Amino acid sequence: MILVLLGPPGSGKGTQGALLKSKLGFEHISTGDMLRAEVSKKSPLGLKAEEYMKQGLLVPDDLIIAMIKNILIQAPNKNYVFDGFPRNVNQAEAFETMLNTMGLQVDKVFYFDLDDDVIIKRLSGRRVCPKCGATYNIYYQKPKNDTLCDNDATPLIQRDDDKEEVIANRLRVYKEQTFPLIEYYKSKNKLFVVSADGTQEEVFEKLKSML
Ligand code: AMP
Repeated sequence: MILVLLGPPGSGKGTQGALLKSKLGFEHISTGDMLRAEVSKKSPLGLKAEEYMKQGLLVPDDLIIAMIKNILIQAPNKNYVFDGFPRNVNQAEAFETMLNTMGLQVDKVFYFDLDDDVIIKRLSGRRVCPKCGATYNIYYQKPKNDTLCDNDATPLIQRDDDKEEVIANRLRVYKEQTFPLIEYYKSKNKLFVVSADGTQEEVFEKLKSML
């Protein structure tokens, strides 16, 4: 089964992708996480991607599509949940062609619906542990000790692209390039709308009931 999580940055796609992995055994493919790993390795892909990511812009489609193709070619028969991909109609079309040639298809697309003011608080308040990857939010989900990770007491950091000036760009890019995917998948009868304004558990229960 192939699922796609679609929605604005900060709508909880990463959290739900991780739950689909830990609770239901899906392979969770987050293009954002993969790119951040390449950036920290300073690989050729990471060095190219970093410039775009720092500004909140999309990394060029050919780089992303090659990354996804590589994963699917190596293991085409797994259950996948894609988080942060596709990000525009061009990527969605390339994805469809790639899957068709493998006899596969996107089964369901979950659109995470969330108001702009909540999105902004979720992004600007997000803090992450650079050691274990745990995520917190200074408005909604505070760590026990103000600035330290609950798991390992590592000082929490703010992602560069969660800083205010970059958030505006990410939301603009989302509206211009990613939002049209809602119509794209609706016209293919694959779109399921999930209200993303609940606890992690509530949203996960909704997802499960739609699976
Ligand atoms: P995310 O963690 O999904 O918010 O992604 C962080 C950043 O990685 C985005 O702002 C983009 O610069 C880049 N990125 C992630 N996924 C994609 C994608 N499918 N296409 C292009 N750029 C992407």
